Amino acid sequence: MNILVTGGLGYIGSHTCVALLEAGYNVIVADNLCNSKEETKNRINQITGKELTFYQLEVTSDYAVEEIFNQHEIDGIIHFAGLKAVGESVEKPLVYYYNNIVSTMVLARACQKYGVKRFVFSSSATVYGDNKAPFIEDMKLLPTTNPYGETKAMCERILTDIAKAYPVFSVALLRYFNPVGAHESGLIGEAPNGIPNNLMPYVTQVAKGKLEKLRVFGNDYPTIDGTGVRDYIHVLDLAEGHVAALNNLKEGAHVYNLGTGQGTSVLKLVKAFEEANGIKIPYEIAARRPGDIASCYADASKAERELGWTATRNIVAMCRDAWNFEKTYRKHGENTKKVLMLF
Ligand code: NAD
Ligand code: UDP
Repeated sequence: MNILVTGGLGYIGSHTCVALLEAGYNVIVADNLCNSKEETKNRINQITGKELTFYQLEVTSDYAVEEIFNQHEIDGIIHFAGLKAVGESVEKPLVYYYNNIVSTMVLARACQKYGVKRFVFSSSATVYGDNKAPFIEDMKLLPTTNPYGETKAMCERILTDIAKAYPVFSVALLRYFNPVGAHESGLIGEAPNGIPNNLMPYVTQVAKGKLEKLRVFGNDYPTIDGTGVRDYIHVLDLAEGHVAALNNLKEGAHVYNLGTGQGTSVLKLVKAFEEANGIKIPYEIAARRPGDIASCYADASKAERELGWTATRNIVAMCRDAWNFEKTYRKHGENTKKVLMLF
């Protein structure tokens, strides 16, 4: 079966390509490389011993996307391609609305034109806004605090309406919680540009000595130790969740939380990282980060019930694999300039 994976060389997409290839799917990736490197394709092939097909193209272009459909019989699409930096979306809303929404519409239109019935979409727990955790799929969504979150909520609505009007269309809207970690080989992982915004990549860079200390944003939340609580999920579990979603698609649009159902505070994550890797993470308490909520974790029971999927890797494995990738990545960076350029 041929699966078109947009954004397939990015962080979550690359791990999902590995899971798809290992599950026996043929994988065709479309990525414009705006936040990834072509070298990742070789690494996916190296991990799996299989070959994916890669097109460097712009998913917001009908013309470019149709080239793929003219070359391949596509059976399903997993749409990861998107811009995801919350702060940047506030500064450049038009870029975010255009990229994330137009790409979704272009792909949905190609599905209608070429009779593709299977569609899996990358949504986010951010669509729950300021609801009270645990988040459940049928909660009324509250406004998000940024354009990025709005693009996810809008794409969910667009795909839901299309599935209503075009009943054979089977859509899974996957709301991810906080993906962290990396493939255990250390060959693929998350390598953000500049100073990371997210907690785990920040922690690994402190461990590496590249950043001096972690700033913990707020210790006065109504949580177990006052610091923010999130549902961290190993990216390999998340990748397997996509294969489960694809294998269990049914007519209409269906929403699934992909999380572990466990909340972990910032200080607990720091402690888990220290214990897993034997490295001290210096930190200081800083002011709350604007827009942050206290607690965000999933009720993950629907995915277990309907997709037969549940996350199996714990926080220690997440911390170990995140650090393993950072170490491997640093080693490559130190060894050759050429490899450094690849990230
Ligand atoms: P990523 O930036 O690593 O991957 C996205 C990929 O899409 C990149 O390879 C980028 O080059 C590509 N891309 C972006 N716009 C494109 C376009 N117009 N045409 C072709 N390629 C394009 O991000 P990720 O963390 O792997 O996230 C994947 C998806 O999951 C995104 O839609 C993101 O919004 C969503 N998501 C991510 C998280 C997270 O914490 N990482 C959480 C919830 C949802
Ligand atoms: N966080 C922090 N210091 C950092 C980055 C994040 O204390 O340098 C906290 C943040 O306030 C939140 C948690 O870590 O409570 C997870 O933040 P992240 O940005 O990774 O995910 P998100 O808030 O988008 O779910």
